[in-house]
Amino acid sequence: TVRTRIAPSPTGDPHVGTAYIALFNYCFAKSHGGEFLLRIEDTDQQRSTAASEQAIFDSLRWLGLDWDEGPDVGGNCGPYRQSERSDIYRQYCEQLLSEGKAFRCYRTADELNDLREARRAAGQHTALKPSDLKLPDDEVARREAAGDPYVIRMVVPEEEGRCDIDDMLRGTIELDWGQVDAQILLKSDGLPTYHLANVVDDHLMGITHVLRGEEWINSAPKHKLLYEYFGWEMPVLCHLPLLRNPDKSKLSKRKNPTSIWYYQRMGFLPEALLNYLGRMGWSMPDEREKFDLATMLEHFDIQRVSLGGPIFDVEKLRWLNGLWLREDLSDDELIQRLQTWALNRDNLERMLPHLKQRVEVFTDIAPLASFLLSGMLPLTEESFAGCSLEEEELLTALQCAAWRLEAEQDWQRDVLFADIKALATGLDIKLKDFMPPLFVAIAGTTSSISVVDAMELLGPEMSRARLRHAVE
Ligand code: ATP
Ligand code: GLU
Repeated sequence: TVRTRIAPSPTGDPHVGTAYIALFNYCFAKSHGGEFLLRIEDTDQQRSTAASEQAIFDSLRWLGLDWDEGPDVGGNCGPYRQSERSDIYRQYCEQLLSEGKAFRCYRTADELNDLREARRAAGQHTALKPSDLKLPDDEVARREAAGDPYVIRMVVPEEEGRCDIDDMLRGTIELDWGQVDAQILLKSDGLPTYHLANVVDDHLMGITHVLRGEEWINSAPKHKLLYEYFGWEMPVLCHLPLLRNPDKSKLSKRKNPTSIWYYQRMGFLPEALLNYLGRMGWSMPDEREKFDLATMLEHFDIQRVSLGGPIFDVEKLRWLNGLWLREDLSDDELIQRLQTWALNRDNLERMLPHLKQRVEVFTDIAPLASFLLSGMLPLTEESFAGCSLEEEELLTALQCAAWRLEAEQDWQRDVLFADIKALATGLDIKLKDFMPPLFVAIAGTTSSISVVDAMELLGPEMSRARLRHAVE
């Protein structure tokens, strides 16, 4: 049976790119009567969080994608979270070591820098080979005896030479062994890198086809070699084109919101977003633009993927969403969707305590609350007229706030306030001068409810998007 997987790292907001790759893996597996798995690649302990993992589950389910095996649903090939599989990776790494296909490397960070520097100065490829990293035997013995930290690296060919990678869409891709470095497989903390864990897991989980972003093409030679070392059959590879901004650059949150939750918060329908992702590089045989998941599955053919970079254009997505909203939802369903989205009692309960102090009659509520239910606010230079900061300083303040809050994981008013205070101090701007531009960016006006309360109510995605919008 065909088995595919999505293998996201839980290190941030759930990315639309992840949903796009998941959709194609899902369709490929299901159109072959196969299975689709979810594996969490959380080997980077510093950056992985439980909240981000949960967001991956929730956002993919919100879109209507489901998996047959995964950390939250179980299956025969678990655990499906790499942090729970360390012993497995260590065991396979030991095997490579004992067979001379991997080696202990005691090189320090400084030594590695010097090695790279020397190569660069000589105008050579910078890929470090086993021979470059080798230390004299007595030095290895000394470091070993001293209990110095070491990593385990992969043995790779020393010479330049062609490495052919077969790709379902691209045919044979020619790469050069000269560019392939002696990749770390096991870090000094005993945890695996992506390459080792990914290959071991794809094999043990019976993955037959790997559909992933084209940014992984250059890793394919390492993976191919690892499969050879282990004597395993390599899954069929298929590198999908990356999503792009309308200016053709790689989709990035500086130019386009990338969090699935932003689109949910903005009021897009999951069916429409999924439909749009299905149009990224793929088309229906009759070129129709609007189709649901079942229809996509029915007509799915991976060979219809075109390799030109698909452009993720929010304006087109809006247009498509409009069609779904008008054509596929009865008024009753629409009411229900609106309620699930934001027009519900929970949300009113969260908003009213902040609003009621500033209203006299009910009709005051809607205008005051409208910014809490809106998308991007129409801002002009005029909007900031009441702020005391000079233009340059004002922009710096907003930019710094955008950066700081981009990284804030704990989205609560008090934490946000502490962030803002720290920023103001750091920039040497009085809090009373720092706040008004934030008010304008977030609420469109300085006469609104407390800006940190507003940000908490709006949530991280919308707040961040408005801050970014304000500095554009
Ligand atoms: P960076 O700009 O630093 O690469 P990012 O915004 O691309 O960051 P990552 O955390 O690197 O985000 O990626 C999260 C997930 O989204 C990864 O699985 C990655 O493959 C996928 N992804 C990121 N950008 C794209 C893209 N343009 N197209 C398709 N998938 C993408
Ligand atoms: N963890 C990798 C990612 O985040 C998986 C890449 C792959 O599919 O091999 O994209």
